[in-house]
Formats: sequence, structure tokens, C-alpha cells
Amino acid sequence: MNYADIKELDIQDGDGARVSIYVSGCHFHCKECHNKEAWDFNYGKEFGQAEIDRIIDLMDNDYISGLSILGGEPLELVNQKGLVPLVNQVKERFPDKTIWCYTGYDFEKDVLNDMYKKFPFTKELIEKIDIMVDGQFEIDKKITDLKFRGSYNQRKIDVKASLESNSLVKMAFGDEARYENREEKVPAKAPKIIWITSFVKEKEKKSKIIEPAQPVYIQHYTLPKEQKIELIHSEEFERIAAKSILR
Ligand code: SF4
Repeated sequence: MNYADIKELDIQDGDGARVSIYVSGCHFHCKECHNKEAWDFNYGKEFGQAEIDRIIDLMDNDYISGLSILGGEPLELVNQKGLVPLVNQVKERFPDKTIWCYTGYDFEKDVLNDMYKKFPFTKELIEKIDIMVDGQFEIDKKITDLKFRGSYNQRKIDVKASLESNSLVKMAFGDEARYENREEKVPAKAPKIIWITSFVKEKEKKSKIIEPAQPVYIQHYTLPKEQKIELIHSEEFERIAAKSILR
């Protein structure tokens, strides 16, 4: 396995301050991927015990809450093999620190139903991971302020709870705290909403008025130039939309 980078301090890819590793190699080739250079399996340097020792050394600080594994694609076959010794040694040394893994694969369909059957080391690897963020990055579902993920189709999965209960246990993202009290936030009357495809520039807005079915959830979102927008997430349409734009 090759790796593109090891970051000593990462506060974007998981809870708290973390050490992160970017492995090389990804066949997904998502549109507008930010790590295109890491699609090549030969990119970067070879990963071995020296890198594991370095990661463990970096993690040996109270302020580090865990390790994040990104790519490239950590669950490509060659990368799974390369990561097993890393996760085993990290968990042995720091049983209370978390391991997050970002993958373009689908947790149930690809990991549990396919890889678990085909690859002998998948189970050993997955059982050491606490949180998996799954699903490919989808540019038309990108929202710039999403926490710990690039597009809102990606899910944060509690791996241990899912394995123990034999069912998918999703966790709320930090940016989705607004959804936690859903009942309170559902307006009495469903508003008209305007779909928008980009929150970056007003002129890029494409809109359409519709009457959404319940439930709708509301958050406040601050645009550049101090514009404010009231957003709605509709599970029925699985889209983020704007209710109104306030100047
Ligand atoms: S899965 Fe990740 S690394 Fe691979 S192409 Fe998509 S965004 Fe890029």
C-alpha cells in the first residue's frame, strides 16, 4: 500500500483533533474529487512499520482524539491489507481513541454483503473502525459547510453498534444537530420552497417553487456577503432547498 500524506493535526475529518492518513489508490474517480493525484495506486510513498510507529507517536498526545483514514480509497483491496496492521496496533495502544474511515463504498451493500464474504481481512479491519463515513462524493449534493463530509448523501455510521445490532446505526453529524428535535422544528404549515443548486453565488441559483410534503426541517445558513438563507431539508425529495433568501 502507498500513502499520499500523514497529517499530524486534522480537525476537519472527525471529532476533535486527529492524526490522519491519506492512502493512495481509488477507482471511483468522483467528479470534482479534491484528491485526484491519489487515484494512482503508486502515488506517494510505501506504507510500512516506520509509518505505523510515526502515527502512534503522533497520537500519543492527550489532545489527539483519534485516527482518521482517508484517501484515495481505504477499502480498495490492497489498502485494506495495508491498513490492518495499522488499525490493530492503534487500537492496542489507544483503545479509547476512535478510528474514523472515509470510503466511497456503501457500508451494507459493498462492505458487509460483498467484501466480508470475499476478503478474509475485511472483518478484522472493519471491527477496529468506530465511525465510517460512506458513499461517494456527489458534486450536486455538495454543501460547503457540511461537517466531516463533502456531500449530504454521505452517511456517518456507528460501525460497532451496527455490527452488534445487525442493522445500520447512523449517527447525526455535527452540522445536523438542527435535525435532532425534528418534531419541534417542523412548521405547522409547510412553506413553499425554492430549490437551489449552489449556495455560493446568487447568480448560480436555479429555482423552482414547489409545495413540499411533510416533514420539513429548517436551519439557518449564512451565505457569503452576509446574505442569510433559510434552508429546508425534505426527506421525501432528499434535497436541500431554500425557503427564503433574506438580505
Ligand atoms: S472516493 Fe474519494 S478519493 Fe475516490 S474519487 Fe471519490 S472523492 Fe476522490
